Amino acid sequence: IIKDLSDLEKREVLGHGNGGTVYKVYHTKTCSFYALKVLRLNGIRQPVEAEILKRVDSPYIVKCHAVFDSGNSNNDGDKGGDISFVMEYMEGGSLNDVLRQHRILSEKVISVLARRVLEGLGYLHGMNIVHRDIKPSNLLINGKGEVKIADFGVSHVVEGRFEGNENDAGTCAYMSPERIDPERWGGENADEFSGDVWSMGVVMLECLLGYFPLIGAGQRPDWATLMCAICFGEKLEMPEKASPEFQNFVRRCLEKNWRKRATVLELLHHPFVS
Ligand code: ADP
Ligand code: MG
Repeated sequence: IIKDLSDLEKREVLGHGNGGTVYKVYHTKTCSFYALKVLRLNGIRQPVEAEILKRVDSPYIVKCHAVFDSGNSNNDGDKGGDISFVMEYMEGGSLNDVLRQHRILSEKVISVLARRVLEGLGYLHGMNIVHRDIKPSNLLINGKGEVKIADFGVSHVVEGRFEGNENDAGTCAYMSPERIDPERWGGENADEFSGDVWSMGVVMLECLLGYFPLIGAGQRPDWATLMCAICFGEKLEMPEKASPEFQNFVRRCLEKNWRKRATVLELLHHPFVS
């Protein structure tokens, strides 16, 4: 539907991130809103994101309608080197926005959320794509209140086995033990997909607790504190009110040993989400 970037009018900035800026844009020909993510083409990150966005098509993943290698056509006076993604506009914002507004969510809402994230991860993992950056700001909500996975900026397509140094990207707060300290936690041979399960577990627990779970409430999460909490933290802080189903679900995600951690397929059958 979208043939030309010049048919899009920038309305406001929706978010800034590592690689670029996301705008709310108005498509004059169809009178509808989209989100436009504009990235500077200065690394190897963008082609992977573009590649993945072109390949995926699922109700659980934010849809990308078009990709433009846009030179300087974005009216900003910027010269060249941009790539732009035209995505469906998620008017509910991110889970991060929702948490900032409501602080905590009910188990009922979390179970619907978890189900959708699992469906999305199941789809991605089935295509050999590891997301690697599951966190509240990358889970977006549309006008119907449906959650979808977004932001493939640090994702990875697995070809055969685990490869390369995996500590190059992603927010460490939601990162699994085997990614932070591969030597201790057997990360060299780790099934990369299990890292996404860990991150999802952290997010779900955060939704019920109302704060980032692996360190004490109100602490400033510097890198060292986080690393210790993720790799060595013994006890999981669980809200007293949490149901046994929720507790078990989160424990299955936050199993430090990735070999014992639940897979997405196992979790899709978990009573908490079914
Ligand atoms: P980054 O790689 O910079 O983190 P994201 O794709 O995560 O980029 O987008 C950054 C922020 O912009 C998101 O956290 C969200 O608040 C907003 N955003 C991104 N895509 C959309 C969209 N399709 N609809 C609405 N808001 C979006
Ligand atoms: Mg992001």
